[in-house]
Amino acid sequence: MKIIRKGDKGMGELFNKLPNKKELQAWIETYGEYDDVTSYDVPASLGHLMRLWEEAKSEYLYKMFGGQFIIEQDFTFEKDRREIEDSMFEMVTNNKFYNEYMAWTRNFAGNDYSLRCCLAELIHYSHLTINEYEGETFSINIGESRVTVQKGCKPSRILGKIAKLANIDGYEDFRLAQSRIFNDRFSKGKLCLSIHPLDYMTMSDNEYGWDSCMNWRSKGCYHLGTVEMMNSPMVVVAYIKGNKNMPFGRCEWNSKKWRNLFIVTKDIITGIKGYPYQNTDFDKACIKALQALAEKNLGYSYNDTVYERTFSDAEETAYFEDIDEEVNFNFLTYCMYNDFGNDNTTHFIFGLNHPSTIECCYSGPAECMYCGSIVDGEDFEEPDTVICPSCAEHIYCDNCGERLYSEDTYYTLDDCIMCEECYLNHREYDPVDGEYHMRDNMEEITVIEDGAKLSLTSGTKEDIQKYITNSKTFFTYYPEKLPIKHYTYERTSRSIWGLDDYHYTDTCTYVLKSDISEDLWSEIMYH
Ligand SMILES: [Zn+2]
Ligand SMILES: [Zn+2]
Repeated sequence: MKIIRKGDKGMGELFNKLPNKKELQAWIETYGEYDDVTSYDVPASLGHLMRLWEEAKSEYLYKMFGGQFIIEQDFTFEKDRREIEDSMFEMVTNNKFYNEYMAWTRNFAGNDYSLRCCLAELIHYSHLTINEYEGETFSINIGESRVTVQKGCKPSRILGKIAKLANIDGYEDFRLAQSRIFNDRFSKGKLCLSIHPLDYMTMSDNEYGWDSCMNWRSKGCYHLGTVEMMNSPMVVVAYIKGNKNMPFGRCEWNSKKWRNLFIVTKDIITGIKGYPYQNTDFDKACIKALQALAEKNLGYSYNDTVYERTFSDAEETAYFEDIDEEVNFNFLTYCMYNDFGNDNTTHFIFGLNHPSTIECCYSGPAECMYCGSIVDGEDFEEPDTVICPSCAEHIYCDNCGERLYSEDTYYTLDDCIMCEECYLNHREYDPVDGEYHMRDNMEEITVIEDGAKLSLTSGTKEDIQKYITNSKTFFTYYPEKLPIKHYTYERTSRSIWGLDDYHYTDTCTYVLKSDISEDLWSEIMYH
């Protein structure tokens, strides 16, 4: 039987032309927490779920993309410097020439530690990484020859000179290894600009070992934000696509080595924050590509200067000397984590004739990925789910308030739902009814040895018996003969311990061991 889902008909052009619907549907069904759904309604159709995306991207981004969803271009980029440094470090630690050179420097410089330091700097992996010596200029004499090492020189060339004069073995292999890593610092990749729904949903899901609170696979604490970005009329996802795809279920989708979100309006094109690291070249390449598209397909015009600023707040004012202008920025979101500001370095270009205040909320509506209803971000306890509260009645621990997921183990006790930790730590055994209850709902009775010194000041033996035989009582036992002065069931510990400055004010009930039956006693002791 085919289930007719709401909104199957009447979808617009964007949805009809959207490629990879199968992957999109599979992603939502696999990672959309459909297991948590308690609603009896069938899920909304994909077309219905995508109507807000369609509406948002129809405003101008789809036109700007020239009727495409993903624009891919070859891109040569310099690897992250840390990545190259790691390879260089690994090379030198296993290199014969490196070890012999270091032994020679100890011999050659002797106790001249500053010279030793300079010689070591010359072969330091961070200088080999950029093939530039950044240390102090110095000169040495090797035999008859004088070698001057200038700040800014190429270390590989000077090391060759020293190797020759000082007869240090293995230089050629070292030079080849160093230049291989140095020349390999450029990587070819595909730079993609996208308004495809699945690229928003997978903005922080990849096979490259990084994620953020936007990821779906491990239920990132803000991943509802990806839906707001998907439904935003001004947000584009930009990323560098890896060679291998990310598999899920029977499908696969591109795996992102790096990504950023860009806000595109006629007044500004700005990056928000790059993940897993911020990279000026990547940001600039994306901005230039977006500018070209907006100018060509929308007729927008921008200034060519790409500015860089580090903002620590979502609302900031910055002065731009070359245009002698002060601009106020104010970029807000609903429940998406707002990375704008937050001490991130942002790159942007201005539209011609931009106003002096550029402000917008760059979130689109948050939407339930099961029923498709628009939800106010505040209806969600946490933006860590894409299912609305009426589709999935989330369960919370009645004791600590922690959200319980379907795969978590949880318990019920005295009609309360509890997480495992609370269940194990907040219950007591009642020997009268032979069951566990929540400690907070119980009366505590302390059994004390008959020989303890005490005198009855309030309560009667009958009152005590009532407690003992009522359920929801738990017993503690003090084997020592406590210096209890009163036989009472409303004392503060202060008088129990006889310490006047001890302000513990819980009330306790005491019984003598002889007040309780032998059966009860053995239940208390041996349960
Ligand atoms: Zn819903
Ligand atoms: Zn709990």
